[in-house]
Amino acid sequence: MCGIIGYIGDKKTIPILINGLQKLEYRGYDSAGVCISNNGDLKTIKKKGKLQKLVDTIATQDIDGPIGIAHTRWATHGEPNEKNAHPHLDCKGEIAIVHNGIIENYSSLKKLLEKHGHKIESDTDSEIIAHLVEKFYKDDLESAVREALQLVDGAFGLAVIHKNEKKIIAARRGSPLIIGIGKNEMFVASDVPAILEHTKKVIYLNDNEMATISQGGYE
Ligand code: GLU
Repeated sequence: MCGIIGYIGDKKTIPILINGLQKLEYRGYDSAGVCISNNGDLKTIKKKGKLQKLVDTIATQDIDGPIGIAHTRWATHGEPNEKNAHPHLDCKGEIAIVHNGIIENYSSLKKLLEKHGHKIESDTDSEIIAHLVEKFYKDDLESAVREALQLVDGAFGLAVIHKNEKKIIAARRGSPLIIGIGKNEMFVASDVPAILEHTKKVIYLNDNEMATISQGGYE
């Protein structure tokens, strides 16, 4: 299980995400990635290897926005490479997820999704979550994530965004996840060091809890 950080607020998102991932580097990882949501558009950058490679690539691009999620991966399913790095997207590139943990029933869910026409691009267990959320999505990300997770066996710390929704959905079962409360900004992370320099107000999600995080607060 590796690192997750997500941010929603009016500061620059990329530096907050990168700094958060750096604070989680001590856990070890094999690849890293970010996804930024800006004006109905999702931009994802992923790199195998050291976080610095991701930082160098991001520096060559004009990318930022008010909402983002990021991940350092420690592969359990599928080799460490760019395709398997998180965030993972749905077929339409509208939903992005980062996931810590293991989806035990991913191969039966993958078969089901493929039968319904979904194209799974990576070899990970995690990507099926993006497609399950897509399957249930009807203009309400929170409901879609809730429905999707009812089909999932296994452990997850999860953050999900949709290009048209100004929120991050966080969910936890068997893999730690916290919410950080800032002033006009909110965070989600897998561990406190990722957000400690921004806020000390932290909520620990319990197993089987979900949170909908917006700039002004959480439910
Ligand atoms: N099982 C997932 C994968 O292999 C997540 C691994 C992790 O927790 O970093 O991509």
